[in-house]
Amino acid sequence: MLGEGKISFWDDTWLKDQPISEFCSMTGTPSFARVEDFWTDTGWNEEVTLDVLDEWGVPREVCEEIMDIPINTGAKDIGRWTLTPHGNFTVASAWELIRNRGEKMEVYEFIWGKGISPTISVFLWRLLANRIPVDAKLQWRGVSLASKCHCCSEPDMETRLHLFVNSEAATGVWNHFAKWFPQAPNFDRGGCNLEDRLRWWQRHKRCNNKHHLCILIPCLIYWFLWTERNGCVHLEKSFKVENICRRIVIYLRNLVLAGHLGPEQWSECEPKVDFMVAQTEKSKEKRVEKVLWRPPDWPRIKINTDGSFEGRTASGFEAELKALLEGVKVAKRHNTNLWLETDAEVMSLLLEKRQLGPAETRHTMAKIILELRGTQWRISYIRREGNKVVDCLALLGRDSQALERFEGNNIPARARALARLDQLGMPSFRF
Ligand SMILES: [Zn+2]
Repeated sequence: MLGEGKISFWDDTWLKDQPISEFCSMTGTPSFARVEDFWTDTGWNEEVTLDVLDEWGVPREVCEEIMDIPINTGAKDIGRWTLTPHGNFTVASAWELIRNRGEKMEVYEFIWGKGISPTISVFLWRLLANRIPVDAKLQWRGVSLASKCHCCSEPDMETRLHLFVNSEAATGVWNHFAKWFPQAPNFDRGGCNLEDRLRWWQRHKRCNNKHHLCILIPCLIYWFLWTERNGCVHLEKSFKVENICRRIVIYLRNLVLAGHLGPEQWSECEPKVDFMVAQTEKSKEKRVEKVLWRPPDWPRIKINTDGSFEGRTASGFEAELKALLEGVKVAKRHNTNLWLETDAEVMSLLLEKRQLGPAETRHTMAKIILELRGTQWRISYIRREGNKVVDCLALLGRDSQALERFEGNNIPARARALARLDQLGMPSFRF
């Protein structure tokens, strides 16, 4: 974002997403120039800019685009970073750019996060990487022992696949919870591995919510099979399927009580426990919400905006910013005490925190900041249901080719009716 203009005119990326030198059709390198060399006291020096660009064979359209770039004179030039959504530099994003990536194992995404405690996550990670000391693993490491599993009435060799998938106890636990996922077919044991078993219900439900029960329960089954097995090995208890199932249910109940597990995580499955059913009904009742548009106090002016776009070259965020920019321009003619309101939550947060936002929309954001200079303003967020007048206008705008202004009698009937409802203080409802 341009301030003092002390960056390279040719080689810095300030216009779009590449330096202007990339547009030159002449061979050779233009002599060094700063962006500020192309300014006068009032803005861009169109004549000089055009001459230089012509000299180096830069297309004329580029000059037009340059003339449209806002200059925040007196402020510093501010860099924006394209690799983060908020446009600020982070070391993590730079590291992502330069590091060598190993092949991404999708299953590892499922074992971290909400609902799964770090201890369990680390255990699962070790389990999938074959670093869990089951008997077969110890033998492989050269420890001499006769393997005898604890999980079957007729003991077998304890391997990972046996203990966690195929043994009597494991089968019992998996079958118990399979009733929660009636749409999924029975697990196919032929040639299976731990990852297949972990993702069986998730794959068959085509569920991409990685916190869903279809992932969470398999993770917990692995964990509690392991703790039960360790109890048997070290404390000489006997292996009980009911213990494992009960512990998993208690774990889930604690998550529900703590608010870490909600109805979206058990959608489209049939939990056989009362604490999940009750929650589903309760949250359905709660979901109706009243949204009220509030009028401003005199003499403040309120500007509600909404953006809409079509096609691939734009983004919803950009449309919202452009709508806000137009709104501010119109309102400023009436008053400089402004209340901006939008249903674009990200945009309202950025402006409220005086942040500059993503790199792609930096010029529009700079224009808004310049327009708002010298005004008193605040911004608020309103749910879409409360922003319906401009929502209706934004849809009209999407299909229109040029800027249209509506005033007085020429305001579309629907928008006028909706505005009337707001004026009367009629709330909208969100379901
Ligand atoms: Zn066994």
